[in-house]
Amino acid sequence: MSKLSKLGIMGGTFDPIHYGHLVTAEGARFTFGLDQVLFMPSGRPPHKKDAQVSDAEHRYMMTVLATLTNPHFEVSRLEIDRSGTSYTIDTLRALQEQYGPGTELYFITGADAIFDIATWKDCDECLALAHFVAATRPGFSLDHLPASTRQWVARHKERFHILQVPAMAISSTEIRERVRAGSSIRYLVPEPVEHYIRRQRLYVQALPQSRERCTK
Ligand code: ATP
Ligand code: MG
Repeated sequence: MSKLSKLGIMGGTFDPIHYGHLVTAEGARFTFGLDQVLFMPSGRPPHKKDAQVSDAEHRYMMTVLATLTNPHFEVSRLEIDRSGTSYTIDTLRALQEQYGPGTELYFITGADAIFDIATWKDCDECLALAHFVAATRPGFSLDHLPASTRQWVARHKERFHILQVPAMAISSTEIRERVRAGSSIRYLVPEPVEHYIRRQRLYVQALPQSRERCTK
C-alpha cells in the first residue's frame, strides 16, 4: 500500500450500491483532491435479523463491480471482516493506524447520514481523526438539522464540509423495491451490478423498507 496524502472513506450498507453513492464519492474526490476513495461496506449489525440486510459478500461484490473502472476507487473489507458492530470511530482509528499520520482522512456521507452525528460514539474524536463531508441528497435538507447537530457542526466548522453533488433521487431501498416489483433498475445502478442482482436473484423476496448502517 503506497502512502496517500488524502484518503476518502465512503461508508454504507450498499444494498445495493447505486449511482448516488458513486457520484457522491467522485464529487468528494474531485473537490477535495483525494488520492483515493475507499468504499467501506458495513458489516452486518448483530442486532439486525438476517433478512434485513443482504449477505456482506453480495454487498462487497457489488461494490467491487461498481468501482472497478475508477482507478481512484478501492473497496475495503475492514468492517465486513470485523465481528460485531462497527462504529465510525473504530473504523477511523483503524485507518489512521494503517495509513499513518501523513494521511488526512475525509469521511464522506450523504445529508441524511449526518442528521444525528452529535449522538455518535466519540463524535468529537471522529472529527479529530477525519474531515467530515456531508453531500447534498434529494429529500434531505441540511437546513433542517436537529439543534444538537447544528451546534456540533458550528463547533467543528473547519473540519466539516458541505458538498454539492448532482442530485440523484435514488436510494437502495427504492432499488430493492423496484426489483421486487419487476420494474427496471437500468441506469440507476452500474450495468454489472444489475447483472449481479439478476443472476444472484437478490431482492426478489420482501425486505423491510429501510434501515441505516450502524455508525453511532
Ligand atoms: P437505504 O435506502 O438502504 O438506506 P441508501 O441509498 O441510503 O440505502 P446507504 O448504503 O444507506 O444507501 O448510504 C451510504 C451513504 O451514501 C450514506 O452516507 C448516504 O447518505 C449516502 N447516499 C446514498 N444515496 C445517496 C444519494 N442519492 N445522494 C447522495 N448521497 C447518498
Ligand atoms: Mg441509507
